[in-house]
Amino acid sequence: MNQTSKLALTFIIFIAVSACGDSDDPAPAPAPAPAPAPPPAAPFAVKIIGFNDFHGSLESPGTFGENTSVPVANRPPVGGAEFLAAHVARLKAQNSNNVVVGAGDFIGASPLISALFFDEPSIETMNRIGLEFNAVGNHEFDKGSAELLRLQNGGCKMTGGAQDPNSCRGASVGTPVPFEGAKFKWLSANVIATATGRPLLPAYGTKTFNGVPVAFIGMTLRATPTIVTPSGVAGLEFRDEAQTVNALIPELRAAGIESIVVLVHEGGFQSGTLSDINGCEGNLAGSAIAGIVSKLDNAVDAVVSGHTHPRTTASCRTQRAGRFR
Ligand SMILES: [Zn+2]
Repeated sequence: MNQTSKLALTFIIFIAVSACGDSDDPAPAPAPAPAPAPPPAAPFAVKIIGFNDFHGSLESPGTFGENTSVPVANRPPVGGAEFLAAHVARLKAQNSNNVVVGAGDFIGASPLISALFFDEPSIETMNRIGLEFNAVGNHEFDKGSAELLRLQNGGCKMTGGAQDPNSCRGASVGTPVPFEGAKFKWLSANVIATATGRPLLPAYGTKTFNGVPVAFIGMTLRATPTIVTPSGVAGLEFRDEAQTVNALIPELRAAGIESIVVLVHEGGFQSGTLSDINGCEGNLAGSAIAGIVSKLDNAVDAVVSGHTHPRTTASCRTQRAGRFR
């Protein structure tokens, strides 16, 4: 639609210039014909591939299952970066209009294979999986905002004025040195750097599909300071999730963006003890994420959540039509 508007504008300017050049002609220049209305765009589907709380889990933990009456050896093998990468690639192949997003806690509280190297391996892995937008989670602040910005922008970890020997070790595995930083965008709409009054990281990112822009707003739970060591959140203010999203809607609408997805590091639980991984038992009633979603502007089309580690991939409708998780 933007391209159509530009073409129409060019056409009108051309007519006006011609009229000036023909000023001796007594006949008035004909009024420009109105630009034809663009044909209505045919609806199409965008595949949003989302996951959360990776926590540096580069290696498979082995088998996993909710039902403890099933012997460990009989539970299915799960997890690990290779499986995740293959699964994401398989999903992407199903629809070229796709986007890979995260809902935070991709680093921090991670096993040694990632933590020892300041979680640089996990970020390099996400770069290669094709992650595009990621909400910050509470664990993204475990080492403070300066370290988070380094992981976003790249460069080596400095310890005591010298490069830390466990940072920028990419040469041993074939990744760039110095550390390349996250190719995906961490988003922190509700995390304000008090020194600037601005979000620490971008509030949202956009991706365009068939000429239609889609916005992805990213944020963490407002209560992050209550679960992160004070030094990790020094100089930061964490604002209300729903109010933050709703305040951004006019800006996005003014930019011609009608499709809005929220990536938020906050979650809930199904009500059953052995929840169906694809179920939504209890409809997340009473959970923090349900409370947030119920306050979101109707302009929001979808919410991808995390934080609470429930085994569910369900889409759950909340009280108000058009909202789902
Ligand atoms: Zn979390």
